[in-house]
Amino acid sequence: MRARDLLHTRPEGLYCPPGDFFIDPVRPVERALVTHGHADHARPGNGKVLATRETLDIMGIRYGEGFAGSAQVVRLGEAMEIGGARVTFHPAGHVLGSAQIAVEMDGMRIVASGDYKRRADPTCAAFEPIACDVFITEATFGLPVFRHPESAGETARLLESVRQFPERAHLVGAYALGKAQRVIRLLRDAGYGETIYIHGALARLCDYYVSQGIDLGPLAPATIESGTKDQFAGAIVVGTPSAFADRWARRFPDPVACFASGWMRIRQRAKQRGVELPLILSDHSDWDELTATITETGASEVWVTHGREEALVRWCALAGIAAQPLHLIGYEDEGD
Ligand SMILES: [Zn+2]
Ligand SMILES: [Zn+2]
Repeated sequence: MRARDLLHTRPEGLYCPPGDFFIDPVRPVERALVTHGHADHARPGNGKVLATRETLDIMGIRYGEGFAGSAQVVRLGEAMEIGGARVTFHPAGHVLGSAQIAVEMDGMRIVASGDYKRRADPTCAAFEPIACDVFITEATFGLPVFRHPESAGETARLLESVRQFPERAHLVGAYALGKAQRVIRLLRDAGYGETIYIHGALARLCDYYVSQGIDLGPLAPATIESGTKDQFAGAIVVGTPSAFADRWARRFPDPVACFASGWMRIRQRAKQRGVELPLILSDHSDWDELTATITETGASEVWVTHGREEALVRWCALAGIAAQPLHLIGYEDEGD
């Protein structure tokens, strides 16, 4: 069987003809298999959705219970037949519930990894390399300049700044799903026990993480009643990046603007966004992790979905691995 007979691109997304399903479709389809809850991968309006329980719960939180005609839970590692294709989900290490999807038929195995990272994340299961013929990878940070520092070091820089400026509030911009909870958990792992204040847009997802056994420590809403601005002196406030762009942020005492993102590796981006304390924390693989993962899967062919495709495709060619960009549109970097 040829790989493209098992999985190929259509305008709606990656399509499997034998199973008649799409993986992470960007337009509504009859049957969708979803890797994780980020908005560019998990969209409402599909007929049937198959995903991990956590991903389905997250879709329910974000879109309401009617996000699909019907939803079916798949457990990691549990094999199922769809049409003639055998499908299994495996942890991707990206956000809570994130999974790679392996599709197999007639001895051909293709793994669609969704978004993934390799470093330890206390808020989700670690990525597992799956042996395959074709590995479908993202390339969000697919350039050799992208090498992410250790997460603990970035957390330490934040805590050092909090110690240094006890009269200022530290506002940490972090994407609502995954990054925000990871930042909070990393602060706890670094020994920070104070109440962390969160923007309202994070409340339900933080509650959900806690309900799934991820201890985020004391949290409180970052709401200001008149005249209590001082209560945030020396505090850490976590919110979505967009929250910090609007007036809401100006209510805090002399705020230190922090942003937790892999893009903070680029100083110019930090400057453009007015970020005083950039925290390089990525939920995507850096260059070394992308290339190491490709090697580990043993794939003889690599397809690159989105991101900086060219450099990764060239790296594969030099390593003797057939590679091509899929040029899938509709995937952004919500959880970078
Ligand atoms: Zn993602
Ligand atoms: Zn993505």
